[in-house]
Amino acid sequence: MSVEKSNTSHEQRSKPDRRERRPHISEMPITLSNWHQHVNWLSAFFIIIVPLTGFVAAYFYRPYTYTAIFSVVYYFNTGLGITAGYHRLWAHSSYKASTPLKIYLAAVGVGAVQGSIRWWARDHRAHHRYTDTEKDPYSVRKGLLYSHIGWMVMKQNPKHYGRADITDLNEDPIVVWQHRHYIKAVLFMGLVFPTLVCGLGWGDWVGGFIYAGILRSTFVQQATFCVNSLAHWLGDQPFDDRHSPRDHVITALMTLGEGYHNFHHEFPSDYRNAIEWWQYDPTKWAIWTWKKIGLASDLKEFKQNEIEKGRVQQLQKKLDVKRAQLDWGTPIAQLPVITWDNFKRESSKSDGRALTVIAGVVHDVAGFIQEHPGGKALISSAIGKDVTSWFNGGVYEHSNAAHNLLSTMRVGVIYGGCEVEIWKREFIGKPDAMKQGIASQEIVRAGEQITKKTL
Ligand SMILES: [Zn+2]
Ligand SMILES: [Zn+2]
Repeated sequence: MSVEKSNTSHEQRSKPDRRERRPHISEMPITLSNWHQHVNWLSAFFIIIVPLTGFVAAYFYRPYTYTAIFSVVYYFNTGLGITAGYHRLWAHSSYKASTPLKIYLAAVGVGAVQGSIRWWARDHRAHHRYTDTEKDPYSVRKGLLYSHIGWMVMKQNPKHYGRADITDLNEDPIVVWQHRHYIKAVLFMGLVFPTLVCGLGWGDWVGGFIYAGILRSTFVQQATFCVNSLAHWLGDQPFDDRHSPRDHVITALMTLGEGYHNFHHEFPSDYRNAIEWWQYDPTKWAIWTWKKIGLASDLKEFKQNEIEKGRVQQLQKKLDVKRAQLDWGTPIAQLPVITWDNFKRESSKSDGRALTVIAGVVHDVAGFIQEHPGGKALISSAIGKDVTSWFNGGVYEHSNAAHNLLSTMRVGVIYGGCEVEIWKREFIGKPDAMKQGIASQEIVRAGEQITKKTL
C-alpha cells in the first residue's frame, strides 16, 4: 500500500520540481526532531502497525480449525499471485498466461498486499537492471534491514531510483485495471474476501479477519521481502559472484521457490528458479501444471549449455583462487636464461650448486637430495646433466606430485634451442604478447607441467 504514494512521486519525477532546491528529507540526517518526517507512514502502517495489531488480536482470539486451514490455503494462493504472477509472469514475461489465469493471478496477487502489478514489476525490473547499485530500489548494499523493509518504511528520494521500461505492462488491460482500482482491490482481496469466506462459510468472521486477512497477508509480505533481503545475503553463488544474489534452500522454502536467486538473476526470463528436480520450487511446478491443462504456454528456459557454462566458469574461478594460494614455483617467464656452459661450470664446481636440467628448465635440487624417494645416489648422478628422459620414464616415470615438486625447484631456462627458451625468445620486444603467453601458462593442471616431456 506504499504504492499510491510511490506512484505519485514517480509521476512527479518527469516534471521539474521547484522543491528540488531543498534537499530531499532522505538526504538529511535523522535526528530526534525530524525522524517522523523520514518515515513513510502509509507503508509503515500496513507493513508494521497493522501486523502488530494482528498479532495482539491473535493472542486473544483462537480461530476455528477451518479458518486456520483456509488461512494456509489462501496464503499459498496469494503467495503464488506474487511469485508466479507479479514476478515470473509480469516482471519477467517468462511464460504466457491465458486471460482466466491472468485474472486469477492479478486477484490473488493483490490480496498479498504488496502494491499493484505495475508498481511492483517496475521496481523489480529496476532491481534486476541496477542490482547492488544506488539505483537498485532495494539494494542489499544499503543493509539487510533496508533491503527487507527499510526501503518502504523510510522515505526514499525518487530521483535515485533506476528506470525500467514497462510499456508492455501499460498495454495489459488487466494490469492497468488493477493499478487503477488498487485500493478497492487490495481491501477486498486482502481483508474483505477472506473474512467473507470464513464468516459465510463457517461463521468465523473475527477469525477470518485476523488470521486469513491480517496475519496471512503479513506472512506473505514477509516471505516476499525475504527475496530482497535474505536471497541477496544467505547462500551460494554457483553461477556468478560479482553481485549479491544467492541460492539457499531456506529462502526457497520461505518464498515458494524464489530462493534460487543466483540462478534467477543470471537467467531472469527462465520460468524456473530451481533447475534441479529435487529442489523446492512450487511456483515452477504450478506454472508447469498450468501448461499441462492449457492455461499457460511458451514457458521460457535458458539452454542447458549456457547454464552449464556459467556453472563451470564459477567453479574454475574458485579453483583459481585456491590455486593462487599454492607455490607452483617461479613462473617460467621470470626465470633467467642460462647457457649450457654456465650450467656445466656451476654444477661441476666443488662448491657449486646442485643443478640439473629437465625439459629445458634448470632445477636446483640441493635441498632435495636427502629426501629423494629414489635414493641419494640416483639424484646426485643427475647433477650437471640433462636428465629429461631419465625423469620421464628412462629411469622412472615420475608421478604428478613429483612434477609439481620439481617445478618449485626451477631456477633458470637453458639457452641453446630448448623448447622453453625458444618460447621465451619469441616474445622479445613484444611485452603484450609475452603477457598473453604467460597468461596461457598460468593455469597449470595436473599432468600439464612444463617440466613434463611432451610426446
Ligand atoms: Zn534480487
Ligand atoms: Zn526477478
